[in-house]
Amino acid sequence: MLQQPRKAKSASLPKCLASPLRASVSSSVKRLATQSAMTSKNPKEEHPSVTLFRQYLRIRTVQPKPDYGAAVAFLEERACQLGLSCQKVEVAPGYVVTVLTWPGTNPTLSSILLNSHTDVVPVFKEYWSHDPFEAFKDSEGYIYARGAQDMKCISIQYLEAVRRLKVEGHQFPRTIHMTFVPDEEVGGHQGMELFVQRPEFQALRAGFALDEGLANPTDAFTVFYSERSPWWVRVTSTGRPGHGSRFIEDTAAEKLHKVVSSILAFREKEWQRLQSNPHLKEGAVTSVNLTKLEGGVAYNVVPATMSASFDFRVAPDVGLKAFEEQLQSWCQAAGEGVTFEFVQEPHCGA
Ligand SMILES: [Zn+2]
Repeated sequence: MLQQPRKAKSASLPKCLASPLRASVSSSVKRLATQSAMTSKNPKEEHPSVTLFRQYLRIRTVQPKPDYGAAVAFLEERACQLGLSCQKVEVAPGYVVTVLTWPGTNPTLSSILLNSHTDVVPVFKEYWSHDPFEAFKDSEGYIYARGAQDMKCISIQYLEAVRRLKVEGHQFPRTIHMTFVPDEEVGGHQGMELFVQRPEFQALRAGFALDEGLANPTDAFTVFYSERSPWWVRVTSTGRPGHGSRFIEDTAAEKLHKVVSSILAFREKEWQRLQSNPHLKEGAVTSVNLTKLEGGVAYNVVPATMSASFDFRVAPDVGLKAFEEQLQSWCQAAGEGVTFEFVQEPHCGA
């Protein structure tokens, strides 16, 4: 969301700054949309940052094959226009972390780091009313595009904020770095995870960092001081195989069913806890979704192995060790040969 700007202070400011700008976000799942209050039908009156936003949205940085090259080129161009230095750190072949830097006046101070990721999650095109990479804007100012909320709007906010502050003649003691990282949506293993181990990251000397948050349909900014831990867990169940025409006992499916039921019952409990307490926010409870089911080779063959994958977001006040033991006990209760593994290591992250 782009915040309402202060009123332009000087007549010499570019015309675009004199116009109020507000972008709010629709929470509808199908309408991943960002709205600009500039609802003029004349496209020429679109705020330049909204135009830039739409341009960025059209770059197909969609997993599993993001066009990172185009995103880096886009960001390089922004650096050039804003008079910022642009450092490209290739953390793995084809995976570049782009760092735009606005030097502060006091180099002894630690820096401010504004981070955003360039990749977006895949789309189910059939559920979209507009091409998710067209950045179509309707007559009300809603923009339809994958990544509009998560999180290209924030990248553009950083860039627009820096642009305005520079135009207004501000200079800050601390250096401001904007980092644009790849592969966050698939765990950051080819992005931030490698970047933080590099000397280029150490050299940034970040003292304070801002990253993505949640979209807000108003002009308010929500501040979070803790975060749930993403746990991606695969449960594998093994059992007796056999022919599909028989009543095979102790099958992988039976046992997997038990684990899935235990976890979904836990999900329901957490959901009820959230629903019944108006003071609780979604981030205060543990969420879980069953996201993948795998196994089997044929209709008439009872498989020896099946697996279920879950996306847990463990609430900040939950003891991680105890929660891991809970997972263990659900697997044990399902029977012999049921194990779980972390597909993404349990740690704090986005
Ligand atoms: Zn994100």
